[in-house]
Amino acid sequence: MRKPIIIANWKMNFLRDQANLYVKKLIKKLGNKENIEVGIASQDLFLTDLIKLTENTPISIVAQNAHLENFGPFTGETSPKALANVGVDYVMLGHFERRELFNETNSTVNLKVRTALNNGMDVIVDVEELEQVAPVLEGVSEEQMQQIIIGFEPTFAIGTGMSASTKGAEDVAEQIRKTVRKLYGSDVADSTRILYGGSVNRDNLKSLIKQKDIDGVLVGKAALDFQSFWELVEIIENSL
Ligand code: PEP
Repeated sequence: MRKPIIIANWKMNFLRDQANLYVKKLIKKLGNKENIEVGIASQDLFLTDLIKLTENTPISIVAQNAHLENFGPFTGETSPKALANVGVDYVMLGHFERRELFNETNSTVNLKVRTALNNGMDVIVDVEELEQVAPVLEGVSEEQMQQIIIGFEPTFAIGTGMSASTKGAEDVAEQIRKTVRKLYGSDVADSTRILYGGSVNRDNLKSLIKQKDIDGVLVGKAALDFQSFWELVEIIENSL
């Protein structure tokens, strides 16, 4: 059984107090619920605050990016080893905005994935299309696949208000699982979580989350307001 997961991708939004208040509200509402995993992808500056706040709660804290090396002359970058060191649960790699605005390629994303995994981090690796799955997983072992979640986020749907159709999203998620099966076998394919992201809202989530290959969602715009995000968490809960 793959545990459903919902991740709020805050992108570069909020100031410190707003970030802390949001997470305090989430802790209160979520209580000890263990049947759904809720993650917050924050900009780096707030990660340590959020890790402290969410200690002994089921909430996962996610970094939105990391560098491909652990140490060195890379001014302005964040080391994956440092993220692991402060207790970040997941690092998200290969987001569309990283590829589009910061020229990341499949090969950069792949190097980042491997370094993060070698630091023992769990990784959410984003792809915009099926063809990116094999290249970003190159060199990842069967054992390391247990630390990987795949996020499918089609370019046309990110931040546009135009989600993929439920069938369109499920078809690609199914193909992604087939690719993982081909590369790693059935056990790995059956346990790998695949997320959909791209203009998820309370109307489309109900059907998206019922799809057999969609194990959760990444949410941008609809997660910027706490109440709106919480409604999405409840929709997933009610679908269980
Ligand atoms: C995202 O950027 O990861 C995302 C899912 O954004 P939105 O929900 O706004 O499309």
